[in-house]
Amino acid sequence: MTKGRIFSGMQPSGKFHMGNYQVLNNWIKLQDDYNCIYSIVDWHALTSSYEDTSMIPERIECMALDWLSAGLDPEKSIIFVQSHVKEHAELHLLLSMMTPLSWLERVPTYKDKLQQLGDMGKEINTYGFLGYPELQTADIILYKANAVPVAEDQIPHLELAREIIRRFANLYKPVFPEPQPILSPLLPGIDGRKMSKSYGNEIPYAAEPDELQARVRLMITDPQRVKKTDPGNPDICTVYTFHKIFSPEQAEIAGHCRNASIGCVDCKKRLAEKMVTTLADVHGRRKVMSGKPDKLKEILAYGAERARKIAATTMEEVRAVMNLS
Ligand code: SF4
Repeated sequence: MTKGRIFSGMQPSGKFHMGNYQVLNNWIKLQDDYNCIYSIVDWHALTSSYEDTSMIPERIECMALDWLSAGLDPEKSIIFVQSHVKEHAELHLLLSMMTPLSWLERVPTYKDKLQQLGDMGKEINTYGFLGYPELQTADIILYKANAVPVAEDQIPHLELAREIIRRFANLYKPVFPEPQPILSPLLPGIDGRKMSKSYGNEIPYAAEPDELQARVRLMITDPQRVKKTDPGNPDICTVYTFHKIFSPEQAEIAGHCRNASIGCVDCKKRLAEKMVTTLADVHGRRKVMSGKPDKLKEILAYGAERARKIAATTMEEVRAVMNLS
């Protein structure tokens, strides 16, 4: 059976945190079941931060190192930088001609983020910012992806992509499949909310053991469990959400929590130990790779070449059905 194709991307917008690491873990698992295309979407980073572009090359390099050291395999997956495949811009432009403004304006995250970034003093009332989900649509459909790993809050973006695909098919000809979501669980921040630097609840990916242990100690637990002798509910505990990712003996821990045979302090200690060990391996691989910048460039160039071949074929088809060839 032919494998389906997945596209996903991440903005090189600064330092990685454990929430990003979890997204990566999901991507890594998908590598065996799908043909995966993963992009460092540098143009997306400009949609909300276009004034100072001096950090972009360094951030791209950082992100590529994070991805590879975590376990993305450039032989199994296509790994590349979005701006190295110019077809993304061409398709974005063509889609922008036929997408009603109201479709973009009603994306739930648009107004919230506009307000949030405006409050931070950013001049963000731009076409690029409004057109962010349009560019995302171009990214996905350029590769005719059948599926996209997404978090719950990104579902409206994917629904918009599907609407744009249907409009394109009605106006010209069906060229693109409608991608399905693959819901990916996310790691919460230490306070139980979505992990985000703006909430100050993140655990940095590069955290040293002391910092990691300190952040784990601050994690909220089952609020009903006041005394060590109270049975706990791991399903509503942030610490346990992390155990599910880092501890192979997660079922045992859940049992101990439910029958109150482990206290939260010890439970957190066990988690911190697992995280320190896992991250020590990843950080070690990252250190080795960071000493080989040419190899990194080679991997990204190889990925861009493979991505470009698929993108060029799609664009030939698009131009033909739009009478632009
Ligand atoms: Fe959470 Fe562990 Fe405490 Fe249970 S024992 S509430 S899983 S920290």
